Amino acid sequence: VSGDTQLLMIEQPGERAGAGAGAVPWILDARGRRTPGYDDERRLAQVRAGLMRHRGVVAHTADASAGDVERVLGRLHEPDYLRALDRVRGGDPVLVATLAQPGLEPDTPVCAEAVASAREGIGTAIAAARRIVGGARFSYALCRPPGHHAGPGWLGGYCYLNNAAAAAQTLHDGGYEQVAILDLDLHYPNGTSALLERMTDTTLHSLHGSTGANLPWEWVRARTEREHLVAFRSAPAPDVYLAAVATSTHTLARCADAIVLSLGYDTVAGDPHGSWSFQAPVFERIGRLLAASGLPVCVVQEGGYALSSLAACSHAFATGLLDGSTG
Ligand SMILES: [Zn+2]
Repeated sequence: VSGDTQLLMIEQPGERAGAGAGAVPWILDARGRRTPGYDDERRLAQVRAGLMRHRGVVAHTADASAGDVERVLGRLHEPDYLRALDRVRGGDPVLVATLAQPGLEPDTPVCAEAVASAREGIGTAIAAARRIVGGARFSYALCRPPGHHAGPGWLGGYCYLNNAAAAAQTLHDGGYEQVAILDLDLHYPNGTSALLERMTDTTLHSLHGSTGANLPWEWVRARTEREHLVAFRSAPAPDVYLAAVATSTHTLARCADAIVLSLGYDTVAGDPHGSWSFQAPVFERIGRLLAASGLPVCVVQEGGYALSSLAACSHAFATGLLDGSTG
């Protein structure tokens, strides 16, 4: 290993014990039909295995307290929404229309365990961001469920609470003035976009294709001048996509002090929620572009559900990030 740059992988407490805790067994697709839920601890196990294959990756367990989680959530989500999640009882996942984004049909069921996992995901994102505040160059919140479809007062697309926004808020609280969120999940981050309105000094760049269950294309538009969207109506060639990533990372290198990377692996071939055909090496080149930005990077896990590809994707990403940072 050349150089001594590390990637601090922050694990979500309880996930490795696994057994599907907090994983909802179904979700509604864009046509309103039940489809199997793919967001469970097996995803994180695969991502973890790929990351740990690189010698520069060091594992830590998230150490944010429940109080830390509540304080950050209180800055991001609406009090009524947080209270409604607190009132969720029982293990049977149910759809709650009032918890969906206004104008959208609910697609993601809620149950007490899913909400508990979402809170642990927030704690994991906070812990990863604190490592950056503490001086680390790279950290990786190995969290689930994903968060970028969760808005101030709504849930959807597996997401209940917004992990990337929690990481960005933690960086602000730790003294970073200009924070950029770069979202490279396949799907448009409608939740992060809505939260941006209340997070001044935060910029969002998103590259995305399909908009996810129930979210019409017409809804995908920048809400503020701090939001930069690159939408692909059909699957782009890898070089086209990577050129757009490079444009974003070059821009952010000039205007941001740190990057929160909302990283989804659902752009790869075979993803059950995807439609593109990228191969794992794309993520090595993405990692190199992030390293070349020169900025600290706090990665937050979003989507990615192709179990047989996830380890190759995460290993490629770590390789590009770490080998790219040592020149
Ligand atoms: Zn996605």
